[in-house]
Amino acid sequence: MLRITCPWCGERDYSEFRYGSDASKARPAHGTGDLKAWHDHVFLFDNPKGPHREYWQHVLGCRQWLVLERDTATNTPGAARSAREAAAKGGAGR
Ligand SMILES: [Zn+2]
Repeated sequence: MLRITCPWCGERDYSEFRYGSDASKARPAHGTGDLKAWHDHVFLFDNPKGPHREYWQHVLGCRQWLVLERDTATNTPGAARSAREAAAKGGAGR
């Protein structure tokens, strides 16, 4: 069973959360007219095996977005942190 530790609410069952997207991808610059860059960002995803950063939302709790590090091979969750704080520091990859 996957248990996720929300930074605000504590450890909860994964069913309280909703997967958002891949947090390791960099979004194209705002206002860019490069349609291929937007297409690739929205529709193309890697299928990594091992540790991976993902956006999740605690929909049945505080409704906050978080960045969760999850091992995709073992489905083991790692640390979760605020997506807002990650964005303020320059992105979820940092
Ligand atoms: Zn929460």
